[in-house]
Amino acid sequence: MTQTTKVVAITGASSGIGEATARRLAAGGHRVFLGARRTGRLERLVEEITREGGTAAFRKLDVTDAADTRTFVDAALAEYGRVDAVVNNAGLMPLSPLAALKTEEWNRMIDVNVRGVLHGIAAALPAMRAQGGGHFVNIASVGAYEVSPTAAVYCATKFAVRAISEGLRQESAGDIRVTLVSPGVTESELADSISDPEAREAMQSYRAVALPASAIAEAIAYALSQPPEVDVNEIVVRPAASA
Ligand code: NDP
Repeated sequence: MTQTTKVVAITGASSGIGEATARRLAAGGHRVFLGARRTGRLERLVEEITREGGTAAFRKLDVTDAADTRTFVDAALAEYGRVDAVVNNAGLMPLSPLAALKTEEWNRMIDVNVRGVLHGIAAALPAMRAQGGGHFVNIASVGAYEVSPTAAVYCATKFAVRAISEGLRQESAGDIRVTLVSPGVTESELADSISDPEAREAMQSYRAVALPASAIAEAIAYALSQPPEVDVNEIVVRPAASA
C-alpha cells in the first residue's frame, strides 16, 4: 500500500524555508515534527498548525550536537511511532571574503550546514532501515553547483551536502530515498547572519527577486509525494529573474 501521508521531521523549522515546509506539509495531511533552537517560535507554529487542523509537535534542537539530533529524532519516533522523512534544512550563511579571515563564521557554517546534515542522517538512518524505508530531503543551494564571490565557504558546505546526498543515495538505494533541494535566493532570515558589510550590501540586490519560501516548500512536498518506486534526486528552484 502506498503511504500517502507521512511523518516528517524538519530541522530549522523556526523560520524561512523550514517554517514554510512545516505549514505546507501539515496542510497536506503529513504529521510534522519540528526542531530549531528558538522554541518560542516553534511553539507558536505548532499552535497555528494545530488550530488549522494539522498535526505538529516540536522539540528544541541544535544540529551541531549529534546526541541532541538523535534525541530529536527519537522524540519524533516516540510522538508518532515512525519517521518517514527527515528534511535536513537548518543552515547559516554568514558570507564574507576569505581574506576577512572570519574563521569562527567558517567553522559555524561547517558545523551547522555539513555536520548538521550528517547528524540528521546518523540520527534517522537506523530507524528508517528498521521500519523498512525512509526519505532524506537535504537542503543545499544553487551554491552547491557554482561558487560566487564572498561565498567560498558557504558554497563549500553546500557542495559537501550535495556530495553526501549522492553518496547516501548510492549506498542505500532500495530502501532509502534521497532528494537534494537547491534553492536560489528565497525570502527568509538567512542573510541576517552576514556580518561583513560588503557581502551584506551585495545581498540586497539579490533579495529583490527572492522567491517566497513556499516555492521551496512546494518542491519538497512534490518529492515526498512520489510513490515508493520513484526517487527524485535533485531539484533546483531559482527565481525566474535570476541569471
Ligand atoms: P533562515 O535563517 O530563515 O532559517 C534557518 C533555520 O535554521 C532557522 O530555523 C534556524 O533556527 C535554523 N538553525 C540555524 N542553526 C541551527 C542549529 N545549530 N540547530 C538547529 N537549527 C538551526 O534561512 P532559510 O530558511 O533560508 O534557510 C534554510 C536552508 O535553506 C538553509 O540550509 C540555507 O542554506 C538554504 N538556502 C536558503 C536560500 C535562501 O536564499 N534563503 C538559498 C539557498 C539555500 P534557530 O535559529 O531557531 O535554531
